[in-house]
Amino acid sequence: TVVSAQNFDFFYFVQQWPGSYCDTDSGCCFPLSGSPGAQFGIHGLWPNYNDGGYPSDCGGDSFDPKVLSDVLVDMNREWGSLACPSSNSESFWSHEWTKHGTCSGFSQNAYFKAALNLYNQYDLTGGLAAAGINPDGSQYNVEDIRNAMQSVLGQLPGIQCNKDQSGNLQLYQVYVCVATDGQTVIQCPVFPNNECKGSVEFPVYQSNSAASSD
Ligand code: 5GP
Ligand code: 5GP
Ligand code: 5GP
Repeated sequence: TVVSAQNFDFFYFVQQWPGSYCDTDSGCCFPLSGSPGAQFGIHGLWPNYNDGGYPSDCGGDSFDPKVLSDVLVDMNREWGSLACPSSNSESFWSHEWTKHGTCSGFSQNAYFKAALNLYNQYDLTGGLAAAGINPDGSQYNVEDIRNAMQSVLGQLPGIQCNKDQSGNLQLYQVYVCVATDGQTVIQCPVFPNNECKGSVEFPVYQSNSAASSD
């Protein structure tokens, strides 16, 4: 098959802190495959332009889990959906493929594999722990968080916060910039415009607690 030339500048490889997804007003529900561990999980691998814009829904093959049989075990472990109600995560993966993956120039199998390879190569949760930054519900400076991740990645990531049920800003997502090869971490040409600054909470995540949702 002919794969068209990439029509974007770089990828954001986006990971989410499950504790910060779960302790919002919307709550969360654990995937049917089992709850994720107390570590960052994958949200997506998103083609992006240097000016901050991005392509989406580029057409082509629709999502097909049959071509993913060799990566489904890892996808369930690292890329589970925390949205309610609990699911087998396929609607999350389908959304990520349809909106972002179809613009990557990769086959479906190569797209998910590229994200999993990036995930397994850079242990952001461990990098924070090595710097004494732990999900203990206390406050950490965003620049300390970014610097700890830089020592794992070689480059500074972007950090996005959300709010817990009391309105406190907390560490939610990490944006790692990756070349169009889907493998090489690069300096971010542009950071997401919803960055957070100052001190933010790093909430506890209990992977064995009951899923909460109202
Ligand atoms: P939100 O508005 O919740 O930040 O983002 C909603 C969705 O828009 C994300 O899940 C993602 O699909 C897309 N999105 C948001 N910001 C960016 C961005 O900077 N780059 C890309 N490629 N997609 C984004
Ligand atoms: P985006 O468009 O922002 O890439 O993807 C977000 C979409 O995936 C939303 O429709 C959201 O409800 C759904 N989704 C399902 N599971 C998850 C999850 O675990 N985390 C996030 N951030 N979105 C999820
Ligand atoms: P989507 O369009 O992406 O379904 O969801 C819109 C926004 O609501 C996204 O920021 C997504 O992360 C969030 N969202 C959707 N479903 C849930 C949920 O079950 N729990 C939480 N905490 N957020 C959700």
